[in-house]
Amino acid sequence: MNLLSVEHLNVNFHFKKRELAALIDVSFTLKRGERIAIVGESGAGKSILGFSIVNLISKPGYIHSGAIKLENKDITSMNLRQLQEIRGKRIAMIFQDPMMTLNPVITIGDQLVETIRSHTKINYKDARNIAIEKLRNVQIASPERRFDQYPHELSGGMRQRVIIASVLLLNPDIIIADEPTTALDVTIQAEILQLLLAICRDNGVALVLISHDLGVVSKVAERTLVMYAGQIVEEGPTLEIINDPQHPYTQGLLNALPQMALPGQRLNQIKGSMPSLAERPNGCAFHPRCPYATDKCRSEQPEFIYSGVSSVACFMVEDMLDEFNQHDEGLV
Ligand code: SF4
Ligand code: MG
Repeated sequence: MNLLSVEHLNVNFHFKKRELAALIDVSFTLKRGERIAIVGESGAGKSILGFSIVNLISKPGYIHSGAIKLENKDITSMNLRQLQEIRGKRIAMIFQDPMMTLNPVITIGDQLVETIRSHTKINYKDARNIAIEKLRNVQIASPERRFDQYPHELSGGMRQRVIIASVLLLNPDIIIADEPTTALDVTIQAEILQLLLAICRDNGVALVLISHDLGVVSKVAERTLVMYAGQIVEEGPTLEIINDPQHPYTQGLLNALPQMALPGQRLNQIKGSMPSLAERPNGCAFHPRCPYATDKCRSEQPEFIYSGVSSVACFMVEDMLDEFNQHDEGLV
């Protein structure tokens, strides 16, 4: 059974008497212990999808239709008490800025102790020992000293480690990490990702890693979903997607990666920008930026099809498959 299944999810924003689509027909599944990535430029709807999973979309946004099932229980129809049971304990979130979660006027040790004691009846001393152990697990040196420090006394990377420690205290089944390393130095980024990977693997925790960087996710996620303008445009095993991207948008994201460029070569940024919710183009939303766009792309929406490598929504891929099949039939 899937741990999580998102089924035909549509999220709208009700804005100035208009209904704007922020997520369109998004479907995917997550198995226990699996690690997936959601990738796309900013404005693609990645964070909205992350928040939707824990039903935390705030006004003027709302879940218009579809289902989000955590082991067959639909999160979209849960009441506040049921949702609070799930948030943190079953599905935990990590954000780009740890200060969104940490309280600046309480020592990190006391914040961890508070989390422990809000869910179990143990005394301060035992909770302190657990907290110090967790800080050690996320590779924080001299945890006894760090325990008494305030968030501002720690580096950004160390604060993110504290967040990972606090998330782990509740033994979640799923961690949703939204650009968890974007604000950090490149070397620290790699360390935090490695830590996240190890923690998820060792504890059987499923991970949804949200990132604008295909290079970052390639080291962590087994499966990747590429989002553009509120839709999933390509989905498949991460390695396949990196080695043989099918959708022109995925190809563009890869070409823009510094590590993909040859020495001395300029980076190929995708021309144009992500459309705003209010200016979503007709047909395939990527058509104004796509080098292969045809008239059909400007008026019709491509369906999701399996290309043999990944699942992809693109007429060009569809046409190539048709041609290939015709050729195949001709041979028989
Ligand atoms: Fe480009 Fe057309 Fe494919 Fe959209 S459907 S990505 S516009 S070729
Ligand atoms: Mg975001």
